[in-house]
Amino acid sequence: MSLNHSYTYEIIAQETPYIKRNCNKCKTVREFYCSEKFRVNANQKIVDIWLIYNCIHCEGTWNYPILSRIHINKIDSLLIQKFMNNDQELVWKYAFQINELRKLCSSVSTEIRYEVRKEKLDTLSNEVTIRLCYQYDFGLRIDKLVSDLFGVSRSEVNKLFQNGDISLKPNLTMNSKVINNLLITVIGDWFR
Ligand SMILES: [Zn+2]
Repeated sequence: MSLNHSYTYEIIAQETPYIKRNCNKCKTVREFYCSEKFRVNANQKIVDIWLIYNCIHCEGTWNYPILSRIHINKIDSLLIQKFMNNDQELVWKYAFQINELRKLCSSVSTEIRYEVRKEKLDTLSNEVTIRLCYQYDFGLRIDKLVSDLFGVSRSEVNKLFQNGDISLKPNLTMNSKVINNLLITVIGDWFR
């Protein structure tokens, strides 16, 4: 008898993505981390805002442009306050703009620490469906996640997928990125 149980797992990023780009001080490509601080410049009511990154080698800075030459009247005053206060949610919103960052950097590392808030699986289940959700997308690959979740290697994950012991909805491949509301169904006794 097949007992299918559904669970929701939330993927929670523990840090912001690292970027790689040329460091003006080191004179070479270096890894930078997000300082989680904005730089706000207001000059004659014209506002510029950047998110500050620091070189992990020399602490040299790179400023990620967020707003360029915007008239102060065109920005919500509450939003300006959030920029001034380095509001963490706002920092993370921009620090996870991976596609935008990629245009300005050599690369953006999506290999960041994350946790999964998960419900305990029913040990009697031989078929489980997990719905995934997250607030911050960092391009996590499905095979990496499944490997982390169940403690099996990525090659085993791919074998299980080919055998139909793991299926995805929508119909994605194992090397695709995790998307919100992705359903992963696992069958058998290997995942308990
Ligand atoms: Zn440097």
